[in-house]
Amino acid sequence: MNTVIDLPDPAALSSAQQRGAQCVWCSAGLSNGTAHDLGPRLIDAHGTSALWFPRCCPTCWKAHQ
Ligand SMILES: [Zn+2]
Repeated sequence: MNTVIDLPDPAALSSAQQRGAQCVWCSAGLSNGTAHDLGPRLIDAHGTSALWFPRCCPTCWKAHQ
């Protein structure tokens, strides 16, 4: 299985969510022990491509699989 999960628009997220400190869906604070890595994504930031490392909490991970 290699399904790409639909993520929120990174432009609408807080900087904490964009750097993986908070869940991309519910903004819960994440620790390295519980966060689920969604894999790096390329985003278009003001005309330049940037790498984004979205992470989510276990609850949202289950809900979005
Ligand atoms: Zn969450």
